[in-house]
Amino acid sequence: MENKTETTPEPKNFVREIIDEHIRIQRFDKHIHTRFPPEPNGYLHIGHAKSICLNFGIARDYNGKCNLRFDDTNPSKEEVEYVDSIKEDVRWLGFQWDSELYASDYFEQLYEYAVQLIKKGKAFVCDLTGDEIRKYRGTLTEPGKESPYRNRSVHENLQLFQQMREGKFPDGTKTLRAKIDMNSPNINLRDPVMYRILRATHHRTGDAWCIYPMYDYAHGQSDSIEKITHSICTLEFEDHRPLYEWFIKELGIFLPQQIEFARLNLSYTMMSKRRLLQLVEEKIVNSWDDPRMPTISGFRRRGYTPESIREFAERIGVAKRDNTIDVALLENCLRDDLNKHAPRMMAVLKPLKVIIDNYPDNQVEELDAVNNPEDENAGSRKIPFSKTLYIEQDDFKEIPPPKYFRLTPGNEVRLRYAYIIKCESIVKNDRGEVVEIHCTYDKDTKSGTGTSQKKVKGTIHWVSASQAIDAEVRLYDRLFTVENPSGDDWKKYLNPNSLEVLTNCKLEPHLANAKIQERFQFERLGYFSVDYDSTKEKLVFNRTVTLKDTWAKIEKK
Ligand code: ATP
Ligand code: MG
Repeated sequence: MENKTETTPEPKNFVREIIDEHIRIQRFDKHIHTRFPPEPNGYLHIGHAKSICLNFGIARDYNGKCNLRFDDTNPSKEEVEYVDSIKEDVRWLGFQWDSELYASDYFEQLYEYAVQLIKKGKAFVCDLTGDEIRKYRGTLTEPGKESPYRNRSVHENLQLFQQMREGKFPDGTKTLRAKIDMNSPNINLRDPVMYRILRATHHRTGDAWCIYPMYDYAHGQSDSIEKITHSICTLEFEDHRPLYEWFIKELGIFLPQQIEFARLNLSYTMMSKRRLLQLVEEKIVNSWDDPRMPTISGFRRRGYTPESIREFAERIGVAKRDNTIDVALLENCLRDDLNKHAPRMMAVLKPLKVIIDNYPDNQVEELDAVNNPEDENAGSRKIPFSKTLYIEQDDFKEIPPPKYFRLTPGNEVRLRYAYIIKCESIVKNDRGEVVEIHCTYDKDTKSGTGTSQKKVKGTIHWVSASQAIDAEVRLYDRLFTVENPSGDDWKKYLNPNSLEVLTNCKLEPHLANAKIQERFQFERLGYFSVDYDSTKEKLVFNRTVTLKDTWAKIEKK
């Protein structure tokens, strides 16, 4: 087990307390062994990241192992593309699995186990249809009814099960079911289906099988085969634990300890793979890695760091009760990380031209700019200053609201790292919009070296027009307008303004060499990273996250 960047163990949680106790009583004679068991039917989301950090974190801190196991028992929904994306995402989060395994590798063994259960009289072939099985199952308040096929002889069951495998029966006409208890208060124990007939090509086993094991049957036996000591899953499987243990005990094989924890729910965030798939298929978002998606690949593309996601997983902890975490917590983890590491740059997203009338026509000055005030070693760079600049449209108001300390007619403002300028006149177009501002500058007010004692309340950012480079910047907002986008009409809560594309942005020249995925702070605006769509000819940036209290802070300086 390795983790590339972290060495401090995570704080204790109830899962770790259970493991500590197991170590104390020597419940297992082997080392601790966990697994992360995704079904490859979609891309991983931030909820999966919680499970990944938990499972791999435990293996790391207990000197144990963690497998990556694909629970690939449902061929109609699974694809190699998903397998590949899952591996990439786990690695990107900073974890390396000990073994890459597939439930489908155990199909033969699982079949043998099923035969053993039939021989013990603990499983039978049932001819009820899916609908009938559901009707016979009963409800929480009504007991179930036994299948008329429940008392078939072992001999007949063995034959029928073999014929199921040989493809003698059409899809859906027979199942293999565990023979447990139709009166059990736990519905999972009412003769659950173990195998179904399904002619679907599997991404690994091809057409070798036309019967496939159900999740509940395959999962526990796969854990057992791998000698997983602690099978950590989400709370909805608590009611499945008796079944998990029933199979294993009837088979007399290695028994892992299943432990359930609360899944991650995040405000304003959809956390169901099935629905995320719908967003992709219905082209509501552009792809699984659309930066608005709560997928790990979406966060990666947007500019999130793996460190920030791991930190988030640590801060939310692991609990036994469901709750919803504020998405602001995730954003804060990200800001804390980027604040320390992201170089500062100047960028103007909605440019407004400023001409400094008393500045020499062809003069270009190279001014000192600090790369990262949070990081002494980040150094400084030179940025060009000249007669014609761009500032942000928002940083000028002809008629200023109260407490507006940016540029207004007749007033002064400081240009960051440069001079104090004063707005002398404005030029408007036919529609009455301000298109150009004429200013004068005070050459004694140069940042750092100027002799003037003059102070102004506002500082704004800018870029020099002739050296500026053009870029597209994509601004993202929440994908959903409500905290909990659930229910059948969840799509009603989609935010129609979740993406804003700005095509006329002006950046300081250093950004010309920005590499895909590189992250920056654009001063006063937020954190941005280079999108995959970016080319040498056309730079494209994503806004990863806004700054908090940005210009409130800068204006005080
Ligand atoms: P979804 O409900 O989004 O389709 P899933 O549970 O079906 O997810 P799996 O591929 O089965 O997806 O999940 C792999 C592992 O990740 C499981 O152990 C599951 O418990 C865990 N997991 C899934 N969603 C969350 C979540 N929101 N929070 C924590 N763990 C999760
Ligand atoms: Mg699942």
